[in-house]
Amino acid sequence: MVWDCKSMLPEELKVLAEQLGEKPFRAAQLFGWMHEKNVRSYDEMTNLPASFRKKLETKYPLTVLDCVEMQVSKLDGTRKFLFRLEDGNVVESVWMEYHHGNSVCISTQVGCKMGCRFCASTLGGWVRDLKPSEMLEQIYQIQRIMNDRVSNIVLMGTGEPMDNYDAVVRFIRLVSHEKGLNISQRNITVSTCGIVPRIRQFADEGLNVTLALSLHAPNDEKRRELMPIANRYSLEEVLAACRYYFDRTGRRLTFEYSLVGGKNDSEEDARQLAGLLKGLNCHVNLIPVNPIKERNYVQSGQKVIEAFKNKLEKYKINVTIRREMGRDIDGACGQLRKSYMDKKE
Ligand code: SAH
Repeated sequence: MVWDCKSMLPEELKVLAEQLGEKPFRAAQLFGWMHEKNVRSYDEMTNLPASFRKKLETKYPLTVLDCVEMQVSKLDGTRKFLFRLEDGNVVESVWMEYHHGNSVCISTQVGCKMGCRFCASTLGGWVRDLKPSEMLEQIYQIQRIMNDRVSNIVLMGTGEPMDNYDAVVRFIRLVSHEKGLNISQRNITVSTCGIVPRIRQFADEGLNVTLALSLHAPNDEKRRELMPIANRYSLEEVLAACRYYFDRTGRRLTFEYSLVGGKNDSEEDARQLAGLLKGLNCHVNLIPVNPIKERNYVQSGQKVIEAFKNKLEKYKINVTIRREMGRDIDGACGQLRKSYMDKKE
């Protein structure tokens, strides 16, 4: 795989600079312009020789995204951004303000192959993987528009990170690089539907990021109804991979559990879930399902959600109910992109 300039690591830029007849120190300058100062064109890299900039421009066009739509929540300041890629595809990202800082949720693919039943991102299928630079640009553009710093990143937008593995790992190395945005790996969360071999590989990368596993069901039978990936890997295999991730990284695991009314939200479901997670150093994030019009799933009632949480607590499981952010703007995963595409058709 040959990456674009903005997806290259510093040592690769050094090789590139040399190939283009430049001194190695030019690579560090170039890296700083792209990843620390976040400029949008080679023209702005004023301390680079004009001839070098010209060569880069023709051989390695700089990847930049354009914001085509922004929605602002009147409830909590959450913003949804729709970005156009160079080939005309669009992806969405979300900005959320918390007490502890600003968090951005980014997409990792255009569309998704995983087919989870409740998810809007998967309705139009998979179109293509994002490059590391296209993941970075979602953050750089948002920082520019908001004129503020991002402190936390979650890979929970459209796409399955473990299905775009190399680009995602590269993205993490770049965004946490001390000469770039320098975001602590501890403030990065990667969410996966549970591609077992990739979780194990990820555990061995020497990274320090939080792994969030989309569980959504307390047994294989129920999980297969909601998530096609459950036909490939059993819960036993998935949880063994999670345990391996914890053993290798020491990072506490997060389990995401979207509560779907009447499907996975009974107290018996909670009891089974507690059994599954017994002894794991983990935290459960309950997400009231965000209904999409293409499916007839409904949210669990407030009482049911509370009862589910209480049951888990009774079994000494750390659990929180995810605060719903930006309820008034095209809800969850993939809905903004979907409504934009529907309008265009
Ligand atoms: N592919 C990754 C990341 C994408 S979505 C994954 O599967 O984890 C981030 C989380 O939101 C996942 O847990 C996903 O299952 C959940 N999700 C997607 N659509 C949802 C919806 N409509 N309501 C509630 N949760 C949803």
